[in-house]
Order: sequence, then C-alpha cells, then structure tokens
Amino acid sequence: MIPHATGRGRKIYEAVGAKRTVVSAVPPSTHQMGTARMSHDPGQGVTNAYGRAHEVPNLFISDGSVQTTAGAANPTLTIVALVLRQADHIGREVAAGRL
Ligand SMILES: Cc1cc2nc3c(=O)[nH]c(=O)nc-3n(C[C@H](O)[C@H](O)[C@H](O)COP(=O)(O)OP(=O)(O)OC[C@H]3O[C@@H](n4cnc5c(N)ncnc54)[C@H](O)[C@@H]3O)c2cc1C
Repeated sequence: MIPHATGRGRKIYEAVGAKRTVVSAVPPSTHQMGTARMSHDPGQGVTNAYGRAHEVPNLFISDGSVQTTAGAANPTLTIVALVLRQADHIGREVAAGRL
C-alpha cells in the first residue's frame, strides 16, 4: 500500500508541475479503516455520528470502520472513545423509548 500511495502521490505532484519530489518516512497512519465511515449525509457515509447505520434500522457499528480516515496516529483509543460515547447514546435512547 505504501509504495502504491507514494507512487501515485509522485505522479499527482508531477502532473501539477513539481520539479522534484521527495519521499519521506511514512508515519503510522496505515491502518485500514473507513469502510463504514460516519457522515450526517447518507450519500457520503454508512452511519451517523453515533455509528448507527443510515440504511439498516437499529444496526450500530462499534469499530474502527466508522472513522473516515486512519489519521496520523494509532486508532485504538479513538475507537474506544467513540464506542463509549455510542453506548451512552444507546442508553439514553432506550431510556427515552426511542430504541
Ligand atoms: C500488528 C498490528 C499492530 C497494531 N498496533 C496498534 C497500536 O499499537 N495501537 C493502536 O492504537 N492500534 C494498533 N493497531 C490497530 C488496531 O489493532 C486496529 O485498528 C483495531 O484493532 C481495529 O479494531 P476493530 O474493532 O475495528 O477491528 P478488529 O480488532 O479487527 O476486530 C474485528 C473483529 O471482527 C471479527 N470478524 C471479522 N469478520 C467476521 C465475521 N464475518 N463474523 C464475525 N466476526 C468477524 C474478527 O475476528 C475480529 O475479532 C495494530 C494493528 C496491527 C495489525
């Protein structure tokens, strides 16, 4: 993935006129995620901000796939934070009779 990405990046820079491109050390942002990314817009994402699927009633996704990108650091603490937030949300929705 990294050689593919750096090769494509080089082509993009050269296409817009770069005179020289330099490939530097790649930071640890290569975790695969984003297959069920969150978005308010169902046309742009699979779940809402609480990981609830737009198209499947009462399906909640509780993993790294809801993150839109891997970012530039390890993802696990963000996955845990989003899941704790999701659990609070589900508890509130159940208590209010909406789930
Ligand atoms: C070698 C390595 C080192 C890493 N080091 C770090 C680190 O230091 N810090 C950090 O923050 N992150 C690290 N990561 C990334 C982190 O481990 C993952 O981003 C995180 O575990 C993703 O969590 P997840 O719940 O989205 O997916 P996963 O942890 O992959 O969980 C998916 C689960 O779904 C199960 N599953 C798959 N298909 C099915 C199916 N059809 N039916 C039922 N179950 C299924 C799998 O068995 C698995 O248990 C590392 C990853 C790797 C590979």
